[in-house]
Amino acid sequence: MSDTYARSNLAAIDAAHHLHPFSDMKKLNADGARIIQRGEGVYIWDAKGKKYLDGFAGLWCVNIGYGRHEIADAVARQMKELPYYNTFFGTTTTPATLLSEKVVSHAGPHLNHVFFTASGSEANDTWFRMARVYWAAVGKPSKKIVIARKNGYHGSTVAGASLGGMKYMHEQGDLPIPGIVHIDQPYWYGEGGDLSPDEFGLKVARQLEEKIDELGEENVAAFVAEPVQGAGGVIIPPNTYWPEIQRICKARNILLVADEVICGFGRLGEWFGHQHFGVEPDLAPVAKGLSSGYLPVGGVLVSDRVADVLINDVGDFNHGFTYSGHPVCATAALENLRILEDERLVERVRDNIGPYFARAWGALGDHDLVGEAVSIGLMGALQLAADKKTRMRFEKPDAVGALVRNHALANGLVLRATGDRMLASPPLVITHEEVDEMIRITRIALDSAWRELKS
Ligand SMILES: *Cc1c(COP(=O)(O)O)cnc(C)c1O
Repeated sequence: MSDTYARSNLAAIDAAHHLHPFSDMKKLNADGARIIQRGEGVYIWDAKGKKYLDGFAGLWCVNIGYGRHEIADAVARQMKELPYYNTFFGTTTTPATLLSEKVVSHAGPHLNHVFFTASGSEANDTWFRMARVYWAAVGKPSKKIVIARKNGYHGSTVAGASLGGMKYMHEQGDLPIPGIVHIDQPYWYGEGGDLSPDEFGLKVARQLEEKIDELGEENVAAFVAEPVQGAGGVIIPPNTYWPEIQRICKARNILLVADEVICGFGRLGEWFGHQHFGVEPDLAPVAKGLSSGYLPVGGVLVSDRVADVLINDVGDFNHGFTYSGHPVCATAALENLRILEDERLVERVRDNIGPYFARAWGALGDHDLVGEAVSIGLMGALQLAADKKTRMRFEKPDAVGALVRNHALANGLVLRATGDRMLASPPLVITHEEVDEMIRITRIALDSAWRELKS
């Protein structure tokens, strides 16, 4: 099949056969999918040759940027030596074992073990079972319920989608499954009313305590949250939130699970989001930035408290995936972590490009269409608002977000829209000039959308 043939027909083939995740497929098939063909640094090119600055790092994951041949070379070597072997029934491979040591070396001092998966969803399914197995093994089998948050995101498998708090996901397939309940999110702009952010942060954190007391501490296994909600709209919790959550989990003796799938591996300027907020989770699902998306790999970081019980009391945890610790994927992750270390990319987010991005992105807050412009590390959100002063939102938030996103795309910048929040999460290697370009195009997109909305 020639390249020309492939290009002219790919959209039609795609429309005929390919069912896409999270896409309006009728519309997608009519428009034709955008075909992305090449990437280098923070840029991607589509099949028509149009260049885009990828302000979203693929899907929050290409932390080291595109086109890193070191990873391709390491992966090719491993492919030739041993393309696959499992980690079941008493075996391992060199990359899987080396990755287990490397990945926990950057987490909090009490996290010293990892259980590998191939994705973030599988990682969430894994800890969900692990938490219940843990409590049963320590003689508290009634501790089963998991408390999660509205508008949280923990993946698309049955447990992942149930743990998540997305109504539009729950509606499809009769979710959540039993044993999962949701409390409010720390979304001050949208739900804080007249409270100050700090007051609101405490209030929603204390919902956890109230919910545990309502359900009975003896029935609750864990609380799960993203350090900063990603898919929900880059919701950065008020400063009072995390310390209070940590206090409650300790006081009520429930496991704290930090979903680090986005925040892990430098996004917030620390290796993990829990370090940024000074929190000590008992379990931490990871994926995305672990391999910068070059190959699928995820896992659950497990604290000594839980690991000791799994190893010494449970013995055989009847759980695992064919691709747990896949040697080629583990090789990609090892090389990715080497690059993050050698190029000091995490420190760079904290000390250099994060603060630069915060100033540049924050300046967009002066735009008439923007209610607030917030960021943390290299994760940013613009809250679109109909009236800045009263925090009044647009009647059709999804349409306004899509309008800004489409103008950004037309001008060569990939941003994501979640309702009326515009999200940015560029590769950690982005330069100052590239941040400037991002901001310049975002402003053009906001101006164009504003003109259309007024007319
Ligand atoms: C993406 C994501 C997941 C799911 O990961 P997949 O690899 O898509 O299964 C889980 N949790 C969070 C916080 C995520 O952002």
